[in-house]
Amino acid sequence: MRVRHKSWAKPYIESQPTLIVTDAEAWAGKWDQRFAKKQPLHLEIGIGKGQFIIEMAKRHPEINFIGIELQESVIAVALRKLVESQLTNVQLVETDGALVNTLFRAGEIDKMYLNFSDPWPKKRHAKRRLTSSTFLGSYREVLKDGHQLEFKTDNRGLFEYSLISFNQFGTNFEYVSLDLHDSPEQADNVETEYEAKFSQNGPIYKIVINFKT
Ligand code: SAM
Repeated sequence: MRVRHKSWAKPYIESQPTLIVTDAEAWAGKWDQRFAKKQPLHLEIGIGKGQFIIEMAKRHPEINFIGIELQESVIAVALRKLVESQLTNVQLVETDGALVNTLFRAGEIDKMYLNFSDPWPKKRHAKRRLTSSTFLGSYREVLKDGHQLEFKTDNRGLFEYSLISFNQFGTNFEYVSLDLHDSPEQADNVETEYEAKFSQNGPIYKIVINFKT
């Protein structure tokens, strides 16, 4: 997802240092200190405009959420929603998810989410996919042993690639859906912006894995 440059994004981000982190590596091992309460920590990579993480945080005040997003003009929109929501259990980080194992200490994260990650369809770009083995290695480091990663996509190619990648990495599959919106789990599903926009075009795939200990 590419969006037009927003000139207000940078100064707005700089004006909200309590909600969005620019020196993320400095917080490794002490993310709890950035939240009102010490409680389980969930991480979403590639939050886009933040609909999912903000709705999850509203439904789950007993959980702290961290959202990572690469693009300044996109995370600024999520930040605006976060400010309006007045939630105290969300922190945003403008950075590359590839750095995740430098931002968190081993086992600091209780659960992870990847929603509608960029598919990078060309084979030569496969390593950029957020479900490629290098990324999985970093996720395993920061996730507590045996804890879950949830992955949703509407992209069949990325879904098929990810199934193989998760399998080759040796993860446990806890749940697989070939059509989330036509399954009982839909009742608890929190939609992302992308999902709301594109789910009429075809099925939404979902996989929940954990890393074997
Ligand atoms: N998750 C949102 C949704 O479902 O509406 C956004 C989906 S959009 C297709 C993918 C998002 O992931 C984009 O906003 C993109 O900037 C972000 N992204 C892609 N690669 C990333 C990376 N390595 N680290 C952090 N964010 C990334």
